[in-house]
Amino acid sequence: MPNLSFVSPTRNSPWGTYLSQIDAVEPYLGSLQRWVETLRRPKRALIVDIPIELDNGSIAHFEGYRVQHSLTRGPGKGGVRYHPDVTLEEVMALSAWMTIKNAAVNLPYGGAKGGIRLDPALLSQKELEKVTRRYTSEIGIIIGPNQDIPAPDVNTNGKIMAWMMDTYSMNTGATATGVVTGKPIELGGSLGRVAATGRGVFVVGREAMRRLNIEMEGARVAVQGFGNVGSIAAKLFAANGARVVCVQDHTGTILNENGFDMTVLLDYVAKHRGVAGFPGGDKIDNENFWDVQSDVLIPAALEGQLTAERAQRIRTRLVLEGANGPTTPDGEAVLADRGIVVVPDVIANAGGVTVSYFEWVQDFSSFFWTEDEINVRLDKIMIGAFKHIWETGELHKIPLRTAAFTVACTRVLQAREERGLYP
Ligand code: GLU
Repeated sequence: MPNLSFVSPTRNSPWGTYLSQIDAVEPYLGSLQRWVETLRRPKRALIVDIPIELDNGSIAHFEGYRVQHSLTRGPGKGGVRYHPDVTLEEVMALSAWMTIKNAAVNLPYGGAKGGIRLDPALLSQKELEKVTRRYTSEIGIIIGPNQDIPAPDVNTNGKIMAWMMDTYSMNTGATATGVVTGKPIELGGSLGRVAATGRGVFVVGREAMRRLNIEMEGARVAVQGFGNVGSIAAKLFAANGARVVCVQDHTGTILNENGFDMTVLLDYVAKHRGVAGFPGGDKIDNENFWDVQSDVLIPAALEGQLTAERAQRIRTRLVLEGANGPTTPDGEAVLADRGIVVVPDVIANAGGVTVSYFEWVQDFSSFFWTEDEINVRLDKIMIGAFKHIWETGELHKIPLRTAAFTVACTRVLQAREERGLYP
């Protein structure tokens, strides 16, 4: 299985998952198949050491990464993740999924991703700032508004983007707002960026439900992960008449057959930093999340959640991938057998990077749009991309993931062919 000397993926690991998705798309690439190996290796991967002085005076070292999977269609683009389980192999897979995602919605970007192996809950704000600034300096040799543009991902946010923007600007001697997206509004951030990923999940979900004849009013929705993506998607489903019946986050799992009051739940989570103990629902075992009956299931946490065993158990009609890479290849095979439709991550959660693109464009032109303009443009791109992928799926009678990969990989490899090999 290993196709590169520096990682040892297994079949269901993130890079193994990505490789199996590339295997699946190969037959649909026609003459561009000649270039497919390009997609099985990152263009560039940087590993950096991040030493900082902790508040107690000792020195700690963290391992950081920035992987540029593809720069064929434009600069690298993708988030930065802070998590104790981050590895080079995971960041490689996440960067590759960015290549596919950016091409699937036709943004003029390649794909990149970064990460630091750390638990942010164990660091003070001062320590977090030091790690962020040193990491930004270390990867400064490969990022830039025209080279590679980081953004928030798991456990990173606008404040961290502000530190990254400031560090890069100090090092280059000029304020460069376009070096990162997901910034605070005062620093060239875009209206609508924070809610964009969750909004995109909802918009694409609504389109899929229409085609599958799933009524929005009263539809049962279960959400795993209640961070930026899961919570906003859940809020929008509830606001449009669906019932959010089950929510899981890192603190626990709660169930309410009648649907949660989202205003009260969001307020509770903001105060208590998790769903555990929420009085408006019943606590259930985490593993039982996968047995809850739903019409729409939204994995919006981390990779590898929908395993074969869980895919066998779930009782739902539609899986909307808010997270990146939540379904393993073995899980995917079971879902296909069972006829459960999966709207893949590379389209379902592409709303975030789409508004990142708007932010980058606004920074370059120093002309800022209204929230309404942003949402109208976001919805148009998401609906158009979903329609194209749905129709590609119907045409070839293939699952939506392979259809999304067909559209995206064709765009990437077409550009690859037209650029030609250097030298
Ligand atoms: N981290 C987000 C993603 O996985 C957004 C990336 C971006 O805005 O560049 O798509």
